[in-house]
Amino acid sequence: MPATCTPDRYAVIGHPIGHSKSPQIHAAFAQASGQIMAYSAIEAPLHGFAATVLAFRAQGGRGVNVTLPFKLQALALASDALQSARAAGAANALKFEGDRIWAQNFDGVGLVNDIQCNLGFSLAGKRVLLLGAGGAARGAILPLAAQRPALLAVANRSADKAHRLKRDFAAHVELQTGGFDELAGEVFDLVLNATSTGLSHAALPLPAHLFAADALAYELVYGQGLTPFLRQARAAGVHQLADGVGMLVEQAAEAFAWWRGVRPQTRPVIARLSVPLV
Ligand code: NAP
Repeated sequence: MPATCTPDRYAVIGHPIGHSKSPQIHAAFAQASGQIMAYSAIEAPLHGFAATVLAFRAQGGRGVNVTLPFKLQALALASDALQSARAAGAANALKFEGDRIWAQNFDGVGLVNDIQCNLGFSLAGKRVLLLGAGGAARGAILPLAAQRPALLAVANRSADKAHRLKRDFAAHVELQTGGFDELAGEVFDLVLNATSTGLSHAALPLPAHLFAADALAYELVYGQGLTPFLRQARAAGVHQLADGVGMLVEQAAEAFAWWRGVRPQTRPVIARLSVPLV
């Protein structure tokens, strides 16, 4: 095949990787935007992430998405980390340029794009609560804060981890942090579940009156239908419910634009991957 017909190669790397929707999403983006590229899923051994990335690059790979459990290692492997990855302490996209490996983290911007552009929920002046203090919450803090909410609070099962976020981000944003028991009497316009309970099907100890009238309840996990958190929100009278499928597709679109210089349409892909919240 002549070089000009050879597709540029990309991949998502994780462990496990069989569940990943990234190949489907990027194939749809490439087809819709006329990009000649191939995108595969690679399962790296648990102790072989760096070797897997470097082998893919040596075979002509141009960039990778990175998913659990390798996002921290992806940042460590990079020669150049952009601010989104440094702030999150993790990378979910790498780009190869000669000897250099650039790192980005698009999870937070994908989340904000989904909330504001797809769901039509403006964050400015709103009281926002992030449940969870892991990698996803960490990556969301600066993109959420950039939209100037009236309050950005973080509550976590282990309050110490939430307080650590307050210290880590003190130069950029004033966070209100604590454990779930400190939420009594507080009311929020947007509550985001960035804990992993959407996958374990555990319920969170949330107070009954946490949600404002017209609140949005956003579950970062996707493809699970009504998770315990979304059920709790619905039982509290919340009408606007969303899961993380839009975040997933929006972060993929950011990576695609970073690699290819073309921003793909996201709504048709979100519609195709959405699972009804019933
Ligand atoms: P992580 O770093 O492992 O953090 C997990 C968080 O969940 C921690 O805050 C942990 O609290 C909390 N948690 C776990 N079990 C809990 C329980 N039974 N009760 C209360 N809290 C509990 O995970 P992550 O990377 O932040 O991911 C969080 C979720 O976001 C995952 O389910 C992931 O699928 C989802 N996500 C979605 C997208 C998307 O594109 N839609 C992107 C990234 C992540 P402790 O600190 O107390 O242990």
